[in-house]
Amino acid sequence: MNAEEIYRPLGVSPQVCAFGERVLDGLRERFAAVDRIAEANQAKVLAAMQKNRVSAACFAATTGYGYDDVGRDKLERVYADTFHTEAALVRPQITCGTHALTVALSANLLPGDELLSPVGAPYDTLEEVIGIRPSPCSLREYGVSYRQADLKPDGTFDYEAIRACVNEKTKLATIQRSKGYATRPTFSVQQIGELIAFLKSLKPDIICMVDNCYGEFVEPIEPSDVGADMIVGSLIKNPGGGLAPIGGYICGRTDLVERCAYRLSAPGLGQEVGANLGLLPSLYQGFFLAPTVVASALKGAIFAANLYERLGFRVVPNGSESRHDIIQAVELGSREGMIAFCKGIQSAAPVDSFADPMPWDMPGYEDEVIMAAGAFVQGSSIELSADGPIRPPYAVYFQGGLTWYHAKLGILLSLQNMADAGLATLPEVQ
Ligand SMILES: *Cc1c(COP(=O)(O)O)cnc(C)c1O
Repeated sequence: MNAEEIYRPLGVSPQVCAFGERVLDGLRERFAAVDRIAEANQAKVLAAMQKNRVSAACFAATTGYGYDDVGRDKLERVYADTFHTEAALVRPQITCGTHALTVALSANLLPGDELLSPVGAPYDTLEEVIGIRPSPCSLREYGVSYRQADLKPDGTFDYEAIRACVNEKTKLATIQRSKGYATRPTFSVQQIGELIAFLKSLKPDIICMVDNCYGEFVEPIEPSDVGADMIVGSLIKNPGGGLAPIGGYICGRTDLVERCAYRLSAPGLGQEVGANLGLLPSLYQGFFLAPTVVASALKGAIFAANLYERLGFRVVPNGSESRHDIIQAVELGSREGMIAFCKGIQSAAPVDSFADPMPWDMPGYEDEVIMAAGAFVQGSSIELSADGPIRPPYAVYFQGGLTWYHAKLGILLSLQNMADAGLATLPEVQ
C-alpha cells in the first residue's frame, strides 16, 4: 500500500501526500537518531523498575489517608532512580505542571527571599504564581520578590545581566528548559548545566530548579544530571506516556523535596499521606512507555518543521537544528492561519475529530488562546495537540503524538486545511 492509498480516505489529497513523502525521504537519519535516544531512555526506565523490584502488589488501589502505600512510594523511587535524584514526589494530587511548579516554589521560598529567572519571562501561567500579574495568593503577596534577567537577542544567556540580578536575597533560580509560548530557543541539557555552574559560582547555595515540562526523555540525560537541585514537570506531558490521567512530579534533593511534600499536604504529614486512588497502573505503565512516546512526538515535530520550512514559514526550531523538547513552533502570520492549522490537527484526532477549535479566553492566559486536541486525557499535550496565544507572530505550538503515524496524519491534514484555504501553496512537482 502506498501513502496515497493510506491517507486519501482520511482526507489528504494526493498532492499533499506526495509532498509529505518527499519531505520524509530526507529525514531517515534524523529519525534513526531519535530512536537511539529512546532506546537509551527505555533502558534507564527499565533499570529503575527492576532495581526497585516493581511487582503486581505495586498496582493496588489505596483510599483515605493512603498510609503505607507501597506502590506510591516505589513509583517515587523509580522516578528518582531514572532521573538520578535523591528523592521524588510523584502524585496524582499534583493537578498539573503549574501546580507542581507552584508547590516547588512556595515550599522553598520564604518571606524576604527573592526568586530569579535567569532565562527571561517564565511560562504564562507562572506570571500569576509569581505575582508578575497581580493575583491572590501569589508569591509576591507572601513577601517573595522576583527578578528576571532577559536573554540576549540571539536567545543565549546574558551572564552580565544575571550577575547583576544575584544579591543576598536571591534564594532560588527557576530555569525553564522549554520555550513555552515564546519564540526563543529551547535550552539543551548541556546549556542548562553551564548556566547552573555559573549561578553556583556566583552564589554556591542558590537552589536551581528546572521547569522540565516537555523536555523529559528528549535527550539521554536530564537537567538533574548536570546540577539541577530540583526538576519539575507534568504527567499529562512526556513522563506520563499518554496513560497517566493526571499528576505532576518534583525530583531532586531530599531536603527540598521533603519541603514540597509538606507544602502539598501539610506540615508534619508530608509524603506519608496521599492515596493513589487506583491510578498507579497507568502511572507506572505510562512512565514505561514514555521514552517511545516521546520519540513519536519528536518525529512529528521534526516532520512538521521540515514540511513547513520548505513552504516558506518560519519554524522554531528549524528543520535541521538539534531538539531539546517536543514543541514545534510554526509562525503562520495570521489569526486565520492559526485557525486553519488547528482545524487540521483537530480533524486528525481519534477523539472529538468532528469538533471545531476556536479562540477563547482561557484561565491563566492573558491573550485569547486557540487549542486543537482530540485527546483521551483532557488537555494532555503529549497527545497530538496544537495551541497558541492569538498574538503576533501568530505562532502555533505543535506537540505530541502518542504514535508517529498519528502525528504524521495531523501534520498532513493541517497542511491540507491551509492549502484548501489558500494560506499555503504547495511547490510544483517536477
Ligand atoms: C505546560 C507547561 C507548564 C504548565 O503546565 P500545565 O500542566 O499546563 O499547568 C509550565 N511550564 C512549561 C514550560 C510548560 O510547557
